[in-house]
This record gives sequence, structure tokens and C-alpha cells, in this order.
Amino acid sequence: MNDWEPGTGNGEPSTGNREPETGNRDSASVRLLFVNAAQVVTCAGPGRARRGREMDDAGIVTGVAVAVVDDEIEAVGPTAELERTYAHAERVDCSGLVLTPGLVDSHTHAIFGKPRFEEQELRGSGLDYMEIARRGGGIHSSVRDLRGRTEADLFDLAVPRLRRLAAHGVTTVEVKSGYGLTPEDELKSLRVIQRLGECLPMRLVPTWLGAHEIPLEYRDAPEGRSEYVRLLVSTMLPGVASGRLARFADVFCEPGVFTIDEARTILTAARSAGLGLKLHADELRPSGGAELAAELGATSADHLAAISESGIRVLAASHTVATLLPGTMLFLGKEKQAPARALVDAGAAVALATDFNPGTSPTTNFPLIMTLGVSQLRLTVAETMIAATVNGAAALSLADRVGQIAPGFSADLALFDATDVRELPYWYGDARCVATWVRGRACHHHPVESL
Ligand SMILES: [Zn+2]
Repeated sequence: MNDWEPGTGNGEPSTGNREPETGNRDSASVRLLFVNAAQVVTCAGPGRARRGREMDDAGIVTGVAVAVVDDEIEAVGPTAELERTYAHAERVDCSGLVLTPGLVDSHTHAIFGKPRFEEQELRGSGLDYMEIARRGGGIHSSVRDLRGRTEADLFDLAVPRLRRLAAHGVTTVEVKSGYGLTPEDELKSLRVIQRLGECLPMRLVPTWLGAHEIPLEYRDAPEGRSEYVRLLVSTMLPGVASGRLARFADVFCEPGVFTIDEARTILTAARSAGLGLKLHADELRPSGGAELAAELGATSADHLAAISESGIRVLAASHTVATLLPGTMLFLGKEKQAPARALVDAGAAVALATDFNPGTSPTTNFPLIMTLGVSQLRLTVAETMIAATVNGAAALSLADRVGQIAPGFSADLALFDATDVRELPYWYGDARCVATWVRGRACHHHPVESL
């Protein structure tokens, strides 16, 4: 973890000076004025997903200050002017640092028990994901493990994981259930996410992924698949919806897991229950997942390493965000990555996320995912920044208030040890984030002891 020493009040990475009180407008409620950043990467623009060529502008400015009042950004403008207007604010001296919107990780599976490091060697020896799953490893071993754990246990395991994400600049995290696969264990996972959201300063977005896999007790039974889909729709979903435990429903749609028709059934029911939709689509083989996501008006279609040409066209013409997870392909040793360039060039809105999970992407290093965005997906640095902020927020239906350094947006900020935004993907694997704020509150140094 790359922690900075806590300063006074909301914390300052270097010494701030209190300005004399000159009695300017709103000064009593002003809390923070970020000054002297080498660059401010605003990502400013319309409060919606950026598509195609729109992605190649990260709104980089210099010589500006950022004023935060309560939980919102109130002004971005010339330093001297804002120093006069916000003379009472606590100054955060960002000299020699780059200020960005807090990063938005829109796809994680952070609620799990034990890690699965033993599978890495097996994969290296030639066993693929499906083969490991068929041998009772993969998702099934995480399911067995999670079912035996208490909520308190799962909470304690998740806290340091989410703090590591925060330490890498992430201020908003989507967290999925999906290792329970019974009504009781899925609700247990979602309650853990709810409690984490109440206790941690980060913004958490819960997703119900009861359709992560067909559990073994159904998989091997005659009619088991259809029975499990019925259980999802008739028992699990009503429990999730009535408890208001999830904002989104997600399905792992892939040959050997859930079919297109099953995914359509589950997601249509979830939409009727008031949930937004996500889909694990076209990860390993092109199966029409992207087309289904667009057809259902899903908020995002995720993975897409094997998306078809028609899938690219359909997604680009839809409102569905294409969320790419290059860390997964890297970790699995796949040579193929999602066709990010083709998606952007076709006019799609592309987001990047970690896919943090114990089997296929055990990383919390979001800037490393941005490195892969440039080096493997061939996005520009500006496109990568938009994919990690504005479009990540759009993949969570939050783009109207999260992901930009602009007036009216939530004061979610990240400060990096760099003088040029291009250094973020360049120093790959580094931990360069020195501080984050969520809703104007210091986040990244939040001590676990105070939970
Ligand atoms: Zn996933």
C-alpha cells in the first residue's frame, strides 16, 4: 500500500497553508482547495458515456485549482481566482502530482473466501479454465468455501481487498455476489457488500450474480439447469429485490455456463424487478452475448474478448457500455484481447475494469489495467483515462455525477505521484496513487481500526 501520512482535517499529501480570512462567498462551508497540480485530468464533458472519438479527450488542464464544497466539486478554474474566492478553504498542495477523478472499477468479484493460487500452476501446465472447472476447481471451489463462511468472516476478508483498490486510486467499486449460488448464500454475500458500503468511505455498487455458474448440485441432476434458472427467477431474485440488496443483475453467459435463452429469461425478470442489467458476454467464444446485452438495454456487456464483428456493430449502435477486462486475459495467459480499437472506432463506449476475483484476475492494481489498455488494447492514454472514469461510471449508471472533475460532480478525486498523465500507464505495476477522496472525504488512508 502506498499510504501518505494523514495531515490535518481531510488530509494533505504535503503541507497546506491556511489563507487569511477575506470573507468571500460561501467560504464558511468550503472545505478543500486543490492547488498547484502539475496536471488536472478533468475528463470533463457531458454527464454520460463517451463514445468513439469522444473518448480521446481527457480534458487535461494546467494552472487550475479545484474547489470542493461539502461532497461536491464546486469550481475548477484559474488558481489565483479560486484562491481569492475560496480563501477559507483548506488548501491541498498538489505540487509535482497529477490530480484525476477517482477511478471507477465497474467489475469486481471481491466477496470470496480463500484465494486460488494453486490454479495458476495448473493453468501453466496446460489445463484450461473449463477443464479446471470440470475437475471441481474454479468457481465451484470458491462456492464450497464461501458457503461455509459467516458474514463477519467475509466482511473481514473483503475490507483489505477494497482498501487495496482504494490505494490504487479507485473511489467507486462495483462488487458482485456469485460465489453463493443458493438464496441464503447469495443474500449473505449481498448483505456483506451492503455493510462494506456503510463502513468504508468508497462508493460501492452491489450486483447480484446468482447466475455465475450452475451449482454442482443442479448441474448433475436431470432438469437441473432449468430448475436452477427457476430458483434464480422465482426465489432468489424476489429476495434480492425486496431487500434492495443489488442495483444490478448479472449473468455469466457463455457456452457451458448459461445459454443466451437462459440469460434472457433471468435478465428480463431482473429488469421487471427494477434492477439494471449487466452481462458477462463473449469472453471465450462468440455466442451472441453482446447482441443480447444490446437487445435487453443492458447497462454494460463485460469481457468481450471473443465478440463477433456483428456484436461490435450492434454494441456500437446501442447504449450498452463495453467493459473490457484485459487483466483477466493477461493472467490466464491468453494471447487474445478484446478488440478495443475496433469497438472505439465503431463508436462504442469502452470502459476498463479489474475483474478482481480469486480465479482469473487477482489484482487490485487498476493503473496496471490502464497499462494493458494502452499496451495491449491499443487505446490512447486519453481513451484509457475516460474508460477508467467517465465510462466506468456510465457502466454503473452514475455518469451524471461520478467520473469527472467538473462543477456539480461528486468530489471523488485521486492524486498520483506523476507530473504527466502519461506516467500513469507508463510506470506499470507501480503504486503511484498518494491519496484519494470520496464525496470530499479522505478515503485512501482510512484506517481499518476505525471501522
Ligand atoms: Zn466477472
